[in-house]
This record gives sequence, structure tokens and C-alpha cells, in this order.
Amino acid sequence: MRINQRVDEIPLSRTLALDALAKDLAASGRDIINMTAGEPDFDSPQLVRDSAKKAIDGGRVKYTPAPGRLELRQTIAEFLTRTREVEFTASQITVCHSGKHALSGSLLTLISEGDEILMLLPAWVSYVEQIRFAGGKAVGVLPRADMGPDFDALGEALTPQTRGIMINSPNNPSGYVTTPEEFERLTQFAQEHNLWILSDEIYGRLTYEDKPYASPVQFGPDARERTIIVDGASKMFAMTGYRIGFVAAPPHIANAVARLHSQLTGAPNAISQEAYQAALKSEPPEVELMCDAFRKRRDHVLARLAKMGLHTPHPGGAFYVFPNIRSHWPSGDCDAFCEAILDVSGLAIVPGSAFGVTGHVRLSYAASMQTIDAGLDRLEHFIAPRA
Ligand code: PLP
Repeated sequence: MRINQRVDEIPLSRTLALDALAKDLAASGRDIINMTAGEPDFDSPQLVRDSAKKAIDGGRVKYTPAPGRLELRQTIAEFLTRTREVEFTASQITVCHSGKHALSGSLLTLISEGDEILMLLPAWVSYVEQIRFAGGKAVGVLPRADMGPDFDALGEALTPQTRGIMINSPNNPSGYVTTPEEFERLTQFAQEHNLWILSDEIYGRLTYEDKPYASPVQFGPDARERTIIVDGASKMFAMTGYRIGFVAAPPHIANAVARLHSQLTGAPNAISQEAYQAALKSEPPEVELMCDAFRKRRDHVLARLAKMGLHTPHPGGAFYVFPNIRSHWPSGDCDAFCEAILDVSGLAIVPGSAFGVTGHVRLSYAASMQTIDAGLDRLEHFIAPRA
């Protein structure tokens, strides 16, 4: 039976496929260390669990308004006002079923057939497919060697069809945190060329340095008018299975996303809305503990990679490192590298090509120190003879 062509062309997410392959191999008896994880290896905070149970026991499990409960939208607006240091109101917020859902809703709302979107690389695997599905074309813009935005390349990628820019800071897969100066340049560029900016800030809470976290909305009224923020509970509160996130945008965009979702998916999960609201209102102490643990792991991983002679762009946030493998694998063919290391050493990691940048691999440190060290031992053994 024939199916819709755009759906037919959608591949399974490569990170999810690799994770599934690693789990299958382990289930079949192979000794596999899996460093592909895209979710915190921590339980959701106690407050989140208690609030979810209370919502169920209190019967607050019915449909809510399509853009989410007003109380939650107000709490999200307060959270953004606090963390982004610019005023937000509930009219700018649409609650969604996840960060992924917030992204797809925004892209379906913003993109018209044939629009080109400049996607700052490396970029999370789902962007390209979501842009294509919405009728647009993702134009990847290669980064500098430190994984920061290359403004010359950005200018060169511009065409009369360009409508928007997608940026993700802290970045998956590199952990790169865009600096305020870079956001300033980016927002000026967007203003000059009349582009919207989609800012995926899902890892915003997971930063490990004293530098203040920046968002494009902080760079004046024009930048605010053209920025759509996507964020959610998955990473910040270790709530990946709750499936809850939001879009923050100028009211007419937030409203359009809500109208779209009212027809496509309906109101977000009522139980998750309540749990998310409780967590946002008074950040549970587990979040800071999780960030401390990630910071320690990051420092440990970076020190070990440096000892191995692998150059790693500095990751200021998220829970990934993105070392360059060319020093030990001159072809830079990261797909072949990941296949070989899985086959020979039983280490599952993700090739940079999945994110549009070859010559690098992504290792997730959302795993216990013991697993991390076992994985790094395998990496070290694998590359040692190739130095
Ligand atoms: N954005 C980025 C960069 C991500 O890495 C992810 C998940 O891995 C998401 C968005 C979506 O998160 P979720 O759909 O769980 O909210």
C-alpha cells in the first residue's frame, strides 16, 4: 500500500537506532558498554514523582486547554523571566507533549513550502527531518573547529529563500555553549536578513561554568520578536518519559502552535503538566546534585581524552563530549570508526556524521563513573595502536 512520500522518506532517528542496536547486542550476550544515551541516568526528583501521584489520586487527569493549563503557562513565564532575565507572560507560552513536539509544532507553524532554514552544525538528529517534513530545506552551516558558529559560513549559506536559523545551546552533540557575543552577532544577522531564530534551549539548566547562560531573547526587542524558544522537562528534571515541554514565542506564534496542536494532538498530558509545574515552582535539590555529578564526570572524561591525545572541543554544558578522531583515524570516517569500535571493543558511541559533522564521535557521560571509565578504557585500547 502506498504511503505519504514525506513519511516514507523519514528514517528512524540514528541515535535511537544505535541505542537499540547496542541494547540488542547486549541482550544477545555480547559485552557492550553503551555510551549513546541521550537522557540523564538519574531518577526524576521526589517532588516530581509525588506531584504526579497526587494528580492521579486527585483525579486531575482530564483534558486541559490545548495550550496547557493557565497556571503552568504562568509558571513557565515566571521561570523564563527568572532564567532569561526578560519579562515573559502566559500569552507567549504553549505547553507541548515534549521538546520534540514543541520543535515540530514550531517548524510546522513557521515553515512554508520551499523555505530554507540555516541549521548551525553540529545539529541534533531530528532537526533535518522535521524541517523537511514541514516542507522546508535544512541548510547545514559547518562550525569552527571549537564547534562555535562560523559567521562567514553563515553568510555564505544565505539565499533569497532563507527564512530562519536554528541554534541549540548548550549543544547536542558538542556541549558547546554559545557566548553572549555570538548571540549578539547572530541576532544582528537575523535582523539584517529578516530571519526568525529557533533557539533549542533544552539543555539550558545543564551548564557547568560560571558564565551566565545566554539566550537570543536577551538581545533587544527586535531579537525577542523573532525568537522562538523550545525547552522542556526531559533533561533539566530527568523527566524524559513524562513527555512535556513548551514553546515560548511572540503571542501570535504561540497561539498558532496551540491551534495546530489542538487539531493534531490535543492537550498535553495532564499528569505531567502538574509534575512539571511543581518542579518549576521550586527547583528540587536533586537538580543541582545532578549538575554537580555531570560537571565532575565531564572534567574526568575531558582529562582522560586529553591523555589519550584526542582533541575535544570544550563542552560547557549538556552531557556529551565530541572528540575529534582524526589524530588516530586519519580518514575522519567516523561511521567506520563507530562500527569498528562496536565490533572490536564492544563500545557503542555515535558518529558525528549523524549530526552533520564528520571526523568526530559523540560520547554521552549520562552513565555511572564506572561505566564511563570502562567505556574510556575500551576507547583507549582501541586507539592506542593507531596513534
Ligand atoms: N533538543 C535536543 C537538542 C535534544 O537532544 C532532545 C532530546 O534528546 C530534544 C530536543 C527533545 O527532548 P524531549 O522531546 O525529550 O523533550
